[in-house]
Amino acid sequence: RNRNDDKSVLVIGLGRFGSSLALELVNRGWDVLGVDSNPRLVQTYADALTHTVIADATDEEALRQVGAGNFNRAVVAIGTHLEESILATSQLVDMGVSTIWAKATSRRHGRILEQVGAHHVVLPEHDMGERVAHLLSGQMLDY
Ligand code: ATP
Repeated sequence: RNRNDDKSVLVIGLGRFGSSLALELVNRGWDVLGVDSNPRLVQTYADALTHTVIADATDEEALRQVGAGNFNRAVVAIGTHLEESILATSQLVDMGVSTIWAKATSRRHGRILEQVGAHHVVLPEHDMGERVAHLLSGQMLDY
């Protein structure tokens, strides 16, 4: 694959974070394969995303079947299920996905994801808390 032209991404977990991310990427012209173990969520996003598959992302064989190793980019959008998040990230690292973004729910979780091999870790609640603080303090200047 030509990495510069490649606008495809694997998104694992179609919860609030993963689904928002996946829909935004589709709006920006990306091909998105959305994976979730919950059939109801996969059904919900089946029409909006390029491809959707019901699969357990901690299962190596299941990931192989969806072609996870062919993606240059993947996002692990699992947060609350700590073990699933770590196992799914580890599988993608083993499969040689070159850029893995992973969501963490705490700094310790994020540190573990980095140790496992995630290339980018995001902490949505921490980041948004800081951002709202910036917005709030910036607004104070207007009054
Ligand atoms: P949100 O983005 O809604 O805040 P969350 O941080 O609460 O999500 P989880 O509920 O742990 O995160 O997981 C997000 C999504 O990932 C859920 O829809 C869940 O079904 C899915 N998921 C969890 N484990 C797996 C797995 N092993 N394989 C595939 N999908 C999974």
